[in-house]
Amino acid sequence: MRDERSAGSLSAFHLDSVRPLIEVIREFGSISRSDLIERTGLSRAVVGHRVADLVERGLVASGNLGESTGGRAPRLLRFRAEAGHLLVADLGATGAEVALTDLAGRVLAQRSEKEDLDVAAGPETILGRIREIFEELQQEHGDAIGPLWGIGIGVPGPVEFTTGRVISPPIMPGWNQFPIREFFGGYGVPVWVDNDANVMALGETRAGCARGHDSVIFIKIGTGIGAGLIMNRRIHRGADGCAGDVGHIQVTADPNVVCRCGNIGCVEALAGGAGIARSAEQAAGDGRSAMLKGILAERGVLTAADVGWCAAHGDQASVELVTNAARLVGGVLATLVNVLNPSMIVIGGGVSHVGDPFLAAIRETLYGRSFPLATRALAIQPSTLGDTCGVIGLAAMVADQLFSREILGEWLPRGRPSAVAV
Ligand SMILES: [Zn+2]
Repeated sequence: MRDERSAGSLSAFHLDSVRPLIEVIREFGSISRSDLIERTGLSRAVVGHRVADLVERGLVASGNLGESTGGRAPRLLRFRAEAGHLLVADLGATGAEVALTDLAGRVLAQRSEKEDLDVAAGPETILGRIREIFEELQQEHGDAIGPLWGIGIGVPGPVEFTTGRVISPPIMPGWNQFPIREFFGGYGVPVWVDNDANVMALGETRAGCARGHDSVIFIKIGTGIGAGLIMNRRIHRGADGCAGDVGHIQVTADPNVVCRCGNIGCVEALAGGAGIARSAEQAAGDGRSAMLKGILAERGVLTAADVGWCAAHGDQASVELVTNAARLVGGVLATLVNVLNPSMIVIGGGVSHVGDPFLAAIRETLYGRSFPLATRALAIQPSTLGDTCGVIGLAAMVADQLFSREILGEWLPRGRPSAVAV
């Protein structure tokens, strides 16, 4: 083992055997040696050598006693999630969730910045504030855990994953091509940037209501609409990173429906939070809803949440607005289901809280327009992780990257992933 380690790089054979071992130990948290042999298909001798190496490197430790199968209870091997920590920040349009996690993605400390971080303030301002919060979290909690191993940033826009750059984001003025990864270069650890819906999809799959599902669609209906796709338990990003950007699928040819992306008739322009609010203002203005008109007169502005409230309190025009938006989303989801055949759809984002009729209308349209085989075992659920969904997903994404074959081979010989080029 020693000679392979001192060589400064791992042999392909070593990497090919050590990576599946770490993957299985990470997945189960703790596992017996015989289960490890069975799940990886590696020989007892190879598992013995590699586990000894991983114990020496501080990634695996002896854990509790497992269940006895007749003889002496086996000592389980456990992933040392405390060997290092991760810093993650999930940026929304107007706020951010920032967290310090262990290597298993457990949130050890979280900070919510609800209103004070308008993404339109530009990358230097927003990321500068995130860096301050990172430092506060490390000062408060960093001593309780191993050193920093990686950073993850989630953003509400399309991300070129290989470079970590946001490309022409509709709601992030000033961020186009900004070098987010380089901004955090001073930490000396790898940095990954991903789309917010992608990491939320991963969060629900690893720790939320979609746990155990291999194929999942997470649709985020907030101010805008986006989706994260999980295929074979991993984020499906497509060739350039923008798979799942479903908000700009065209649902009407009406030239009056202009989306903020510049195109005509996008589902986001009608069924996103801003679109629903715009329709509500029309309903208040043309006399279809006295209730909406009253709120508009009082506050000068209407939101999707107001429409949800009015719908729940018997306002027929609001019920129609909610139902129409939900049918449009349901139609887009039906197409996705026919293409991808997921076993679960998770619905998140602010607009998903407007009430039961919204989810009911999505379900009705979706089941009515998808192939029966594709919906036979399909579950549809609201997001369960709430504000922690994005940061949990980011931590899982960063850990997946750190333990991926390519990156692991870079850092394992040196002990930990400081300054690995990604
Ligand atoms: Zn659009």
